[in-house]
Amino acid sequence: MMGQSEASLSERFNAVQEGVSNAARESGRDPHDITTIVVTKFHDAAMVRELAALGVRDFGESRHQEARDKVAEVADSALTWHFVGQVQGKKARQIASYAHVIHSIDRESLVNTLESGERTTGCLIQINLTDDPSRGGVAPDALLSLAERVLEAPGLQLLGVMAVAPLGADPRRAFARVRGASEGLRALAPDAHWISTGMSGDYREAILEGATHLRIGTAITGNRPHAG
Ligand SMILES: *Cc1c(COP(=O)(O)O)cnc(C)c1O
Repeated sequence: MMGQSEASLSERFNAVQEGVSNAARESGRDPHDITTIVVTKFHDAAMVRELAALGVRDFGESRHQEARDKVAEVADSALTWHFVGQVQGKKARQIASYAHVIHSIDRESLVNTLESGERTTGCLIQINLTDDPSRGGVAPDALLSLAERVLEAPGLQLLGVMAVAPLGADPRRAFARVRGASEGLRALAPDAHWISTGMSGDYREAILEGATHLRIGTAITGNRPHAG
């Protein structure tokens, strides 16, 4: 792109690491308690390998077929794969075959499908902070009843909560709600302490509100090749 200086992958990665450290310091937290998951959707396996060479161990994907193929192509057992997109019921078992953690559990039917899996799948309950049910996630007041269902499912390990800040809303306020929901969940399930919030544009606010896991795409990968 003419006239535009294009930073390299490692420069973008370092810049985000620095941003994470700064926000951690600002909130009196240890940056080591915050995991950056690099969301590589629409990017190829070569980029995953490049990031792995930079020390990234946690990767996120949101589309099943692409994720399945990429995980198979990279075939690196040291990596942890996170599925962060909406889960179609009929794809759920396949997703659980390669994803170590599913961030977007949002209905009982998914729990029914996944509870008898061969291996244990880590899962987060996604909270919908909008009034639009098509965004994915449970309404905040339905969190605990779904959590109770996950806790009794043998193939699932409840790790915590996930949310996306609504477009146009103040992300800090949105993430403060998630922090409150996480506190409610931990009263029921003390080990379910993950808070998966924060993307390229709002990870600082997420860290200030207790995020343990960030899902960062474009700030590290650059623009996605063929998607918005
Ligand atoms: C794509 C995606 C991300 C990363 O978004 P960026 O804005 O590119 O950082 C995070 N979470 C979910 C659920 C996504 O689908």
